[in-house]
Amino acid sequence: QSMNFEDKIAGSARAHEQARQVIPGGVTANIKHFAPHPIVMDHASGSRLTDVDGNNYIDYLLSYGAMILGHGHERVKEAVYEQIDQCGSFVFGTPHHLEYKMAQKLVDIFPSMDQVRFTNSGLEATLLAIRLAQAYNDKPKIAKFEGHYHGGYDQVLVSVNPNMDDAGEHAEPNSVAESSGMSEQDLDQTVILPFNDLKATEAILRQRQDEISAVILEPVQSGFIPADETFMKGLRDITEELGIVLIFDEVKTGFRLTLGGAQHLYDIEPDLTALGKVLGGGFPVGALGGRYDIMQLMSPERGGDILTSGGQQVTDRALFHSGTYNGHPTVLAAGLATIDYLEEPGVMSELLRKTEKLRHGLENVYHQHGLSMQTVGLGTIFNIILTKDVVRDYRSLTTVDMETRKQIDYELLDLGIYTKPGNRYSMSTAHTDEDIEKTIEAHYIAINRVLNR
Ligand code: PMP
Repeated sequence: QSMNFEDKIAGSARAHEQARQVIPGGVTANIKHFAPHPIVMDHASGSRLTDVDGNNYIDYLLSYGAMILGHGHERVKEAVYEQIDQCGSFVFGTPHHLEYKMAQKLVDIFPSMDQVRFTNSGLEATLLAIRLAQAYNDKPKIAKFEGHYHGGYDQVLVSVNPNMDDAGEHAEPNSVAESSGMSEQDLDQTVILPFNDLKATEAILRQRQDEISAVILEPVQSGFIPADETFMKGLRDITEELGIVLIFDEVKTGFRLTLGGAQHLYDIEPDLTALGKVLGGGFPVGALGGRYDIMQLMSPERGGDILTSGGQQVTDRALFHSGTYNGHPTVLAAGLATIDYLEEPGVMSELLRKTEKLRHGLENVYHQHGLSMQTVGLGTIFNIILTKDVVRDYRSLTTVDMETRKQIDYELLDLGIYTKPGNRYSMSTAHTDEDIEKTIEAHYIAINRVLNR
């Protein structure tokens, strides 16, 4: 350590100080903040990020998992340039052929999807899913799982990261606001369920079936805590029996566990699926796909009444869904190029192999230092968890040693490994075996520094 890390990132400190004057906290999303100040990036290529001081990092944040081909992949760049050249504009505000092409691609990849609509973010996709489910079932509430994130709007911004003093009993969790500015009504409209606890979940759903239109979940919580197979199958059975719409939020897991996401891996068909991140190849995107009868609720061609599953008549006006940039041609061109590349033989399997190699290497290093550590994850995402105990829900994470983890992560930044301290790791096809070896070595040094303080 020839130079103090804070000196190496002095340019970031200055840039952050400027930004703080005109942007609250100097960040455009709260999650981008960490102490003492975030690192300000300048450019990127493949698996590497370079900050404003010229420091180079192997990137495991990958824009929260979006950049599955790494940064600036040539095939994606070409597709974007070509699309702009060919269409002569950036956006039309009318239908265009890439919308059909991408919708057809998604319908082919995801057997649960009969139809698809595009949005500009994952948040908008889950929001649309919930509105559709409520219109379909005509019941006032939805249910979500403790610790699961679906975007920052009132209905789902509850019990994502609750303080355990407020969280209530495990088998019947409270609905806890994640933000100021939310009302009691917001909390009341969302029922909280305990993840990976089928018995307790079933009890709540049965008891409140007359109120609940939909259950939404991340099949793999935060992208790294997998649902048990029996839990998942049980949840599908019970929601089907009770006529509750089952929404998979596959914004993180879509194209990242297998191409067909968690639903392919678990062999379960949800009623609706939200996608995002990888789907846009690095551009802002979301999509909602699902069952024909539910998706048709938003068709402007609807004439007359459509019957819900309960035989109840709902309004014959199409459910509202709009957006100036929905189905943006540049975004879809980037997404299609990304998916095309991932579909090539060997690409996903090689990415999965490299993820496994990194996980095993890291586990060895921590164990060599006598630390209790496990990597937890599925597919191309995992997290480093400093405990021997089984991690299966939000509450099992609350007792984990995050302080040591964050100290190690901060040392890793100095050693040229980028992830936001405490964040999960996402892999890209651009990461090489050499990157993986460097990453493992850097962990070895970082752990030594922290343990020998
Ligand atoms: N759902 C999940 C599971 C997510 O991980 C995210 C983003 N982290 C969202 C929804 C929201 O997506 P976006 O940030 O594109 O609005």
